[in-house]
Amino acid sequence: MANKSHLETEIDRLLVARQTVRQIASSLGIPRLVVEERKKQHVARIRARRSLGWAFLGLTAIVVALAIEVPHLYRSFEQDSIIEELRKTALSVEQDKPAATSTWLVSEEFQGPQLLAIRAGQIDQLADELDRSVARVEEIPEIQAMIAKSGKKFLVSIFSPPNGIMHIAKESEAFDPAGKIEVTFFGPAGFNTPIVQGLYLSYQSGFGSVFVAALRYPDPRWFDAFLWHELLHRQKHLDHAASATAPFLSDVWASEEVQGHELARKILDHHTRQAYSRTLAEIARNKWAWSLKNFLRQLRARDLESLEDLFVPGSKDESRFRSSQYLLDLSFVWLKQRQQGQKLIQAKIEAYRLLATKLGRISPSTR
Ligand SMILES: [Zn+2]
Repeated sequence: MANKSHLETEIDRLLVARQTVRQIASSLGIPRLVVEERKKQHVARIRARRSLGWAFLGLTAIVVALAIEVPHLYRSFEQDSIIEELRKTALSVEQDKPAATSTWLVSEEFQGPQLLAIRAGQIDQLADELDRSVARVEEIPEIQAMIAKSGKKFLVSIFSPPNGIMHIAKESEAFDPAGKIEVTFFGPAGFNTPIVQGLYLSYQSGFGSVFVAALRYPDPRWFDAFLWHELLHRQKHLDHAASATAPFLSDVWASEEVQGHELARKILDHHTRQAYSRTLAEIARNKWAWSLKNFLRQLRARDLESLEDLFVPGSKDESRFRSSQYLLDLSFVWLKQRQQGQKLIQAKIEAYRLLATKLGRISPSTR
């Protein structure tokens, strides 16, 4: 007679072969009760194995579903929706603004010397605004360094499409372009030309000139921030900095933009006795976020409004530029609270690329 475990194996084999209890008992010469007892255990084992199989299948299904779903969720969560929401956030701030009603300082375009003569008073007004800007910010070390290189006298030009650029002097001064910083103003007709490309302020390296829309800028502190960002680009170009000619959106190229926006932030800080940076830091601290994108996603209109409250409300025209500066500054401050050194510099460059390419209007020829 076989030993117990051999007997069990034999019963199991016959059970699997679908023999009846009676057949098994008689073929092995054992009591039916023994076979019945063994069959109960056999059935229980099969059931357990089956439910384990179902559990495994279920788990596989969940893993497959996650593998398909998570990257999709991640993508939409981390990219598309952030940019969409930021756009909405920025827009909702803009929508609160009074509509822009004739914020242009020039109602007619500058066409020909005669009209220029008529408009001379306006040109003086624009030129004076540049001199006042120098007086407001020349204490800032970065601006002092620029003034040390390029001086602080401006040559005001007028962009008069389709005639081109006309250099002019203030009524009280003789025309003398030597050693002056050229700033070219334009009116509404210049705005949508291929040169200006709808930018209110830009540095045009082809002309070596900062182009400025002849608008009424409601808050001179913001005019300073915009203007000196562009003057920094001019300075970099004159200095033959690698960033001035680096490929569009490359790290080196973007590093100059980061510098331009950081100079603008310093100007806004200077004008608000650091209240601007304090508000930025407060907003960044109060959000619990695991990534920059997640932080940006948590920004709400009221966050941008708390920054905007520090200034005279902007015209609709400049809201877009203010919003871009707010979002970049918030990103840089959030990153600075978490990183340092070369890693921080690289993270700022990537933040600039993320935001500027989605929210701003930048192109290889203007910056
Ligand atoms: Zn720029």
